[in-house]
Amino acid sequence: MMLKDSVAIVTGSGRGIGQAIALELATAGVKVVVNYAGRSDKAEETVELIRAAGGESVAVQADVSQQADVDRLIRTTLEQFGKIDILVNNAGITRDTLLLRMKEADWDEVMATNLKGVFLCTKAVSKGMLKQRSGAIVNISSVVGLSGNAGQANYAAAKAGIIGFTKSVAKEFASRGIRVNAVAPGYILTDMTGTLPEGMQTDILRGIPLGRIGRPEDVACVVRFLVSPEASYMTGQTLSVDGGMEM
Ligand code: NAP
Repeated sequence: MMLKDSVAIVTGSGRGIGQAIALELATAGVKVVVNYAGRSDKAEETVELIRAAGGESVAVQADVSQQADVDRLIRTTLEQFGKIDILVNNAGITRDTLLLRMKEADWDEVMATNLKGVFLCTKAVSKGMLKQRSGAIVNISSVVGLSGNAGQANYAAAKAGIIGFTKSVAKEFASRGIRVNAVAPGYILTDMTGTLPEGMQTDILRGIPLGRIGRPEDVACVVRFLVSPEASYMTGQTLSVDGGMEM
């Protein structure tokens, strides 16, 4: 599968890591559907950046935790571009707190977006991919899904769940030409992490062997590799992009 003229959906790609992935894929000639939940301004900005660089893109609002929204996302993509070759399940949220303070809603919201969203979107694109006997799916997990983190039991459980889901679906789809992999970013500077108190950021930095906080682009180029023909012999893998944090 050559990347040029293929079609990708990147969930949660109006800003942060998702935006960097959308721009990276578009630069490789991929037509990109920029999905977002509420920030239409950021999604339109991403689409404009892609178009200004000569690429093709549309923004589609859809809550990935809602079946009807996901169905509309797929329908709109097919109407616009006729096929889906690539899915990047990137949309994610945090509701951080220690377990004893964690409310049921904190658990449910994180599971709904971060894990159920991955299930709904993957299932929805898989029908077309199975028919065309090709496709590449990348799920954005986290270093926290591999190592756990105090204050993030909900998030870590969802991100670890993504790794098990990735391996299972990779096994189901391998014989049909569809590859499914995951990326586990470390600490990447985005809106999600930018609000952490400075002291906490300094502590995190001490645990990163490569000595710097990650950029969304550090993750995006690994995703581009995983969906490209160069990774055609890789499936079911989780690649850490974390400056050595997890080793
Ligand atoms: P971010 O800057 O907070 O952006 C999150 C994106 O997800 C936004 O585009 C948001 O849409 C979208 N989103 C949230 N809930 C959604 C829903 N229900 N349906 C559709 N879209 C939804 O986050 P980020 O830091 O770029 O993180 C991106 C992914 O990487 C997440 O899965 C996160 O868990 C993972 N990750 C991040 C880090 C890190 O250090 N930043 C590390 C490891 C893993 P709106 O713009 O419309 O709100």
